[in-house]
Amino acid sequence: MKRILVTGGAGFVGSHLCERLLNEGNDVICMDNYFTGQKRNILHLLDNPYFELVRHDVTSPFFVEVDEIYNLACPASPVHYQYNPIKTVKTSVMGAINMLGLAKRIKAKVLQASTSEVYGDPEIHPQVESYWGNVNPIGQRSCYDEGKRCAETLFVNYHQQNNVRIKIIRIFNTYGPRMHPADGRVVSNFIVQALQGQDITIYGNGMQTRSFQYVDDLIEGMIRLMNTGDDFTGPVNVGNPGEFTMIELAEKVIKLTGAKSNLIFKPLPADDPMQRKPDITLAKKVLNWEPKVNLDEGLVRTIEYFKTIV
Ligand code: NAD
Ligand code: UDP
Repeated sequence: MKRILVTGGAGFVGSHLCERLLNEGNDVICMDNYFTGQKRNILHLLDNPYFELVRHDVTSPFFVEVDEIYNLACPASPVHYQYNPIKTVKTSVMGAINMLGLAKRIKAKVLQASTSEVYGDPEIHPQVESYWGNVNPIGQRSCYDEGKRCAETLFVNYHQQNNVRIKIIRIFNTYGPRMHPADGRVVSNFIVQALQGQDITIYGNGMQTRSFQYVDDLIEGMIRLMNTGDDFTGPVNVGNPGEFTMIELAEKVIKLTGAKSNLIFKPLPADDPMQRKPDITLAKKVLNWEPKVNLDEGLVRTIEYFKTIV
C-alpha cells in the first residue's frame, strides 16, 4: 500500500484519480480548497477508511508523510482561472514550490499536472514536447499559461539541483463526468445548453480546433507516468489526437442529446488558440499508452452524467 497525496483532489480530474488510486489499494489524502472543486465529487469515497480529506490551500506549506504526490491544485477553466489571475499564478508557482519542498524533505515522487496551454497558440501542429510554445506573457491566459510554465521550470530545477524525483504530464483538453456544470469549458457548456434546450454558444466562427480526451484515458496515462523509472521525468503529452472544430463538437452534442438547439455565435476570447492536437509518440513509446475512448463514446457517457444533475 502506497500513501499518496492528491492536491486538487475534489476537482473533476482529481476525484477520478483519487477513486482509481483507492481502487488499486492505496492510502489516499485528498487536499483541496474547494475553489472549483466540490465535496459532491468525492462524497462516495468518504466511507473508505483509506481516504482522508483535508481542506487546505496549496499556496501555504503542507506537511504530510507520503510516498507520492500528484499536484493538480489549480483552476483549469479559463472563466475560473481569469477570475483572480494573481491567485492563479500563486497557486501554480507557490503550489509547485510547496509540493516540491515537501517531496524533497520526505523523498517522495511528485507529478505535476501541466497543460497543453504551455504551447499557447501553437505554430507547430501537432504539438510535440520539444516545441517551446507561443504564449503571450501579458495576455488574459498568461496567469494560467505562464504559471504552468514556471511550475515546469521549478520541477526541472528541483530535479537537477536537489535530485527530487519528478514527472511532468502535459494534459490536453479532458472531459467527462463530474465536470462542473458552470465550469465554462466547451464540452460541459454545450452539453448543459443542449440538455436545457438553450442555444449553443460558439465563440468566434467555431473553426478553431481542440482534441478531446475522455477522463479515464487521462487517469490511466497519469498513473503509468508516475510508475515510470526515476530517469524518466517527462514532459510527456497525454491527450487524444482526434481533432475537431467547435462546430463539429456542437453538432455531435446536438445529435447525441437529440436537442433542437440552434448555434449562436459570440465573440472569440482574446488569445484563444486556433488549433491544438497532441503528438503522442512519446507517450506511446514510454508509457505504452494511447487513448481508448473515442469522442462519441465519451460524450455519451458524459451526457448520461449531466442528465442526472441538470
Ligand atoms: P478543476 O477546476 O475541476 O480542479 C482543480 C481543483 O483544484 C479543484 O478541486 C479546486 O478547488 C482545486 N484548487 C484550486 N486552487 C487551489 C488551491 N490554491 N489550493 C488547493 N486546491 C485548489 O480542474 P480539472 O480539470 O480537474 O484540472 C485538474 C488539473 O489538471 C489542473 O491542474 C489543471 O490545470 C490540469 N489540466 C486539466 C485539463 C483539463 O482539460 N481538464 C487540461 C490541462 C491541464
Ligand atoms: N468555446 C465555445 N463555446 C463555449 C465555450 C468555449 O465555442 O461555450 C470555445 C473556446 O473559445 C475555445 C474552445 O471552445 O476555442 C475550447 O474552450 P475551453 O475553455 O473548453 O478550453 P481551452 O480554450 O482552454 O482549450
